[in-house]
Amino acid sequence: MSEQYVKITSIEKSTHDTLRISCEKPANLKFKPGQATNVAIDTEGWREEARPFTFTSLPDQDYIEFIIKTYPSHEGVTNKLLDLKAGDRLILSDVYGSITYKGEGVFIAGGSGITPFISILRDLHKKGKTGNNKLIFANKTKRDIILKDELENMLGDNFVNILSDEKSSYHSHGFITKDFLKQNIEDYSGFFYICGPPPMMEAVEEHLHSMDVEKNSIIKESF
Ligand SMILES: Cc1cc2nc3c(=O)[nH]c(=O)nc-3n(C[C@H](O)[C@H](O)[C@H](O)COP(=O)(O)OP(=O)(O)OC[C@H]3O[C@@H](n4cnc5c(N)ncnc54)[C@H](O)[C@@H]3O)c2cc1C
Repeated sequence: MSEQYVKITSIEKSTHDTLRISCEKPANLKFKPGQATNVAIDTEGWREEARPFTFTSLPDQDYIEFIIKTYPSHEGVTNKLLDLKAGDRLILSDVYGSITYKGEGVFIAGGSGITPFISILRDLHKKGKTGNNKLIFANKTKRDIILKDELENMLGDNFVNILSDEKSSYHSHGFITKDFLKQNIEDYSGFFYICGPPPMMEAVEEHLHSMDVEKNSIIKESF
């Protein structure tokens, strides 16, 4: 796709440090649930600073949505997004991403690594095909859980949360360990979709390999 200028139609906080941004959709934009695009801000000094963000809306909707964790300390694009308002424009370029739905399995996300799974799960939910898919979502605290109510509504008991920095009677505590995976996954025959920060991804992949999960059953993207 060549560069596309898209107008922001709404921009609001989704959690304390994430933005939910909706934009007009270019007529020729094509993507699969789980895919991302490079995004820059159409403002002096920022047009060359493109960063990858995932579509959280569905390909057949007439708008596009992103859910973006902001890092003010990086003084980069996500911090600059905090200044934007409806009517401002973003510049989208290539569409890509290694996570697309291949079949039932377990989705394992850390923080903003949930975004490819949002579009995939929304798509499955819309088609009535959520089935036995399970989501394990790792965050620091409860207030970091992106789209908690919607994910609960789509997945019910197949939505499992783990918090590293907060103890709660409703959520597991700590990091994703091999024991935690054993306690929460009954069926290892499906796909494993992993997305999050590199240290989390490496640890989870190592646990899965040690439990004889084959490499080609793992679909991943590092954020
Ligand atoms: C395929 C893909 C899809 C993605 N989709 C999403 C998504 O949908 N939602 C989402 O929230 N994220 C997503 N991400 C992650 C997202 O792209 C990054 O969070 C984003 O690029 C950060 O941009 P930034 O300009 O704010 O900061 P950066 O580009 O990370 O940093 C800007 C500058 O800050 C400095 N810096 C870097 N790290 C630090 C640090 N720890 N402390 C201080 N300074 C630092 C460096 O000098 C750097 O050049 C995705 C990533 C990939 C690969």
